[in-house]
Amino acid sequence: AKLKGGNQYQFFTLEINELISRKMILETGLRKAASNGEIHIYYQPQVDIETGGVNGFEALVRWNHPELGIISPLEFIPLAEETKLIIPLGEWILRQACLQFKEWLNQGLDLKHISVNISAVQFNEPTFIRTVKKIIEETKIDPTYLDLELTESVVRNPDISIPFMHELKAMGVRLSLDDFGTGYSSLNYLKEFPLDTLKIDKSFIQTIHDSPKDQAVVDTIIHMALNLNLNVIAEGVETDAQLAYLMSRQCHQYQGYLCSAPVPHDQVLHTFFKEEQG
Ligand code: C2E
Ligand code: CA
Ligand code: CA
Ligand code: CA
Repeated sequence: AKLKGGNQYQFFTLEINELISRKMILETGLRKAASNGEIHIYYQPQVDIETGGVNGFEALVRWNHPELGIISPLEFIPLAEETKLIIPLGEWILRQACLQFKEWLNQGLDLKHISVNISAVQFNEPTFIRTVKKIIEETKIDPTYLDLELTESVVRNPDISIPFMHELKAMGVRLSLDDFGTGYSSLNYLKEFPLDTLKIDKSFIQTIHDSPKDQAVVDTIIHMALNLNLNVIAEGVETDAQLAYLMSRQCHQYQGYLCSAPVPHDQVLHTFFKEEQG
């Protein structure tokens, strides 16, 4: 005497409950994840297309949950943003990445920068600039090595965000615009943000060889970046053909599985600097 489709209804609530409990498990776990040693930073090389040398690395966070295994940042970063845990977590990531970078310099590696992703919630916290300053002082990193990767989504109010970016620039920090081309107001921002680097989103790179239209879009982005005197990085390069294309268009740098997936810090030396290490 129940409603039709009662079973489906039950199944549906069960799924929702599972989702909610996974979310709760992750949320609870996230509070202690860093201090429990479950959070790791992986590093992906940023390669100079002309010379083939490694210019720097992008720090990409990983969470190895004791029961659930590896959790993608695509799942836990939004959760960390919702709960504001991204504030302490993001500070920890920034500090670790700076310390690691300094260690590589001390080991004699010739690197130009370390790139760290900054979430919109982090960027919009009034204490953000103070935190960056503090970490620069603590770790004694030369700020010109530090590259903060922002997306357009960091901007909630341009009248606040743009001066904020100028403050960071005045500290000597570099700014990159991540995932370029996936938002709606990219062109305005490109003109107004004090940027050093533009990162072409991987969705454009992955379709380069699908059609002349896709190529035209990539060509236009690279042209624009070069004309604006920006450094330009292509993300998600997986094939030799994609790399050859980018080279023919004078794109400066690339990241992608073609060179390497992100690797743990202790694999960086022997994976990318064999010769120097002997
Ligand atoms: P993102 O900043 O756009 O990072 C690029 C993503 O592409 C990374 O995924 C990277 O592992 C992946 N990738 C690199 N090369 C290739 C390739 O050749 N092909 C393909 N298909 N993918 C490639 P990941 O590490 O899973 O990170 C996903 C996103 O999570 C990042 O996108 C970023 O938005 C966020 N994220 C990662 N680490 C952090 C962090 O420390 N802080 C913050 N706020 N966000 C982070
Ligand atoms: Ca990024
Ligand atoms: Ca990106
Ligand atoms: Ca992305």
